[in-house]
Amino acid sequence: MRPTGKLHLGNYMGALANWVKLQDQYECYFFIADWHALTTDYADTSGIAQNTKDVLLDYLAAGLDPARSVLFLQSKVQQHAELNLLLGMITPLGWLERVPTYKEQQENLTGKDLTTYGFLGYPLLMASDILLYQPKFVPVGNDQTAHVELTREVARRFNQFYKLDGREVLPEPQVLLTPSPKLPGTDGRKMSKSYGNTILMTDAEPVVRQKLKTMVTDPARIRRTDPGEPDICPVGDLHKVFSTPETLAKVYDGCRSAGIGCIECKSWAADALVQVLQPIQERRAGFSEAQMAEILEDGSNRARRRAEETMQQVRTAMRLDQSMPATKLTK
Ligand code: SF4
Repeated sequence: MRPTGKLHLGNYMGALANWVKLQDQYECYFFIADWHALTTDYADTSGIAQNTKDVLLDYLAAGLDPARSVLFLQSKVQQHAELNLLLGMITPLGWLERVPTYKEQQENLTGKDLTTYGFLGYPLLMASDILLYQPKFVPVGNDQTAHVELTREVARRFNQFYKLDGREVLPEPQVLLTPSPKLPGTDGRKMSKSYGNTILMTDAEPVVRQKLKTMVTDPARIRRTDPGEPDICPVGDLHKVFSTPETLAKVYDGCRSAGIGCIECKSWAADALVQVLQPIQERRAGFSEAQMAEILEDGSNRARRRAEETMQQVRTAMRLDQSMPATKLTK
């Protein structure tokens, strides 16, 4: 994830909660993509250091475990930049221009000049981030599959040009589709930092309750006596994700019969959210600055060792490895 601010419930349900489970089945690498933050926020880098700490804390609070998974910072593993440069030599421009988010984001983020080389190239940096670890799977939601498809195309092209002792160096990773339930923000649109409609993983109970109070509901339910429909209400969507089946049944009955009011219904949704957030926030409070620095340093060292293994294969396959001791290259 990019360190552009504290993570919200949409990030948690769409990715983090799944990642936590994957740790039991796979050897996982999770990183904070600080170079990716520059693709849109290059003009003001003042927030990246603090945001990096916040994202790491959110990772740990959600349950990512440095003893089981590798947690690292992208810019501490410079092999990401090297592979990105080498793959850039073989990637046709048209492949990057047709990535759907390229045009979309240029249109949506109107306050920023995104006609940069770095922004056009971010999907290739992502491909490098992935291929560097020669993974079998990339856990993504539906909206990210185009990026993995590009990664597979780039790997295929690399393997066509270069081989190591007759074998392929960069395996094509598979998409590991992770469930990402529809999570609306307080204005009913998809929960997203750029819409300003988020509920943060760090929001205290009163803040959560206040945000829920202002959340939009079924627009047809104007008066308390009007029946409503949870299936077209953003609060109903929250109930579907977070509430127990019993509460959900009460919501359907009460809303459709006008037996409950929206205020009561929202307070039940807030109860369910607080229950999810409480243990996360308790875990978050248990990490010191020193512990966080150590976790990131240790994880980045482990990632660098793994990344260097791949790069040695890549350099050799490309015949860039001069087999000259590094000391001979320095003055
Ligand atoms: S009762 Fe609940 S589900 Fe129905 S419209 Fe109000 S907030 Fe939405």
